[in-house]
Amino acid sequence: MNVPRPNNLDAYWMPYSDNKYFKANPRMIARAEGMSYFTADGAEILDGTAGLWCCNAGHGRVQIKEAIQKQAAILDYAPTFQLGHPIAFEAAARIAELTPDGMDKVFFTNSGSESADTALKIALAYHKARGESSRVRLIGRERGYHGVGFGGMSVGGIGGNRKQFGALLPYVDHLPHTHGIEANRFARGMPEEGAHLADALENLVALHGAETIAAVMVEPIAGSTGVLVPPRGYLERLRALCTKHGILLIFDEVITGFGRIGTNFGAERLGVTPDIMTMAKGLTNAAVPMGAVAVRNGVYDAIVEGAPGGIELFHGYTYSGHPLAAAAAIATMELHREEDLPGRARAIEPLWQEATHSLRDLPNVIDIRDYGLIAGIELAPRAGKPGHRAMEVFRRCFDAGVLIRVTGDIIALSPPLIIEPKHIDRLYGTLGEAIRAEA
Ligand code: PLP
Repeated sequence: MNVPRPNNLDAYWMPYSDNKYFKANPRMIARAEGMSYFTADGAEILDGTAGLWCCNAGHGRVQIKEAIQKQAAILDYAPTFQLGHPIAFEAAARIAELTPDGMDKVFFTNSGSESADTALKIALAYHKARGESSRVRLIGRERGYHGVGFGGMSVGGIGGNRKQFGALLPYVDHLPHTHGIEANRFARGMPEEGAHLADALENLVALHGAETIAAVMVEPIAGSTGVLVPPRGYLERLRALCTKHGILLIFDEVITGFGRIGTNFGAERLGVTPDIMTMAKGLTNAAVPMGAVAVRNGVYDAIVEGAPGGIELFHGYTYSGHPLAAAAAIATMELHREEDLPGRARAIEPLWQEATHSLRDLPNVIDIRDYGLIAGIELAPRAGKPGHRAMEVFRRCFDAGVLIRVTGDIIALSPPLIIEPKHIDRLYGTLGEAIRAEA
């Protein structure tokens, strides 16, 4: 297929990119199919990251494309403020079938960032509706990523994402991160050490008073800061402490949702149910932007049923429940069901884990982590040049036809759930060679 190249790269200010480097050395993706991207030159690139953790059913899925086309011909757009259109309700009902029991209310957004901010706002509105207006403090975690809105960024714990933007939200505090590399180095699956780190919530309660804390938001597995798998027992302890102190627990399931760890949502496999969960990415297989927030029925009831009449929640987006996104979401969830993508992920997980840990003895590999179809490979940084070694590995892999993702000196992998053994061989073969070449 002949894909025209843009002849002007100047106007597009690219997100989270080294614009100057890219524009001098463009890596242009032109099309995608199955497990692969294809560059404008026609080179095939094996997708080791499902795009940005989002194309969980693989690329170019015909059912999703057809659902979007069909919906575009029926209804391009209609508002969902004080009006409705059927497919948005259907999409919400389908999501509610997948969320944990009792979390049957779904609010639509357009991205993970919007979902994070929506979840935080719902938490604040919940406490206010119940007469606990002093609960305004939001607790995140070091190294957490909840997108780039002011709420998610403030609750997020990545210095690099915050420092450029001044004071951010007041009334935010952070739990310690759970990355105990010394105790848990090369752990397979869930690490043993670190459940006690959840007890830091007691310290924050002692410091601020439970009556000032609205919510704790964490990723069940932190992806963007380099794959941090929760220590065994940690999430259970966090859940118990939130319940004890009347604090809402929010899981940011933007990457753990939709089969990534072998179940519909992380909460299911990890065995801990939050009060609110965010999602995006895999919801539509990334074919149309869409996010959502699912809440425990009691949270909805407090805000909606408890309201005297009129608008209950002063929040929403022009594109909340957009018909094309809703169509893509329904088709995606149908694909997940028909092909049992979570089950497929679970079935191939042992091979994935074995291949991931086979990199252990390569030069500069200082830790490896995995859970479900996620892997993190941490490299020792070059003296005085953090992030350079992993970025060189990324470039070598791309040139050799494999897409990986790097954050600092950590390589993060999250392939489409349709990955087969031959793809795993190629992905890890190429990655291993690139790590050796950068020794
Ligand atoms: N939350 C988590 C856990 C994420 O991993 C991401 C994106 O990687 C986001 C939120 C933000 O999603 P988006 O980029 O769609 O705004």
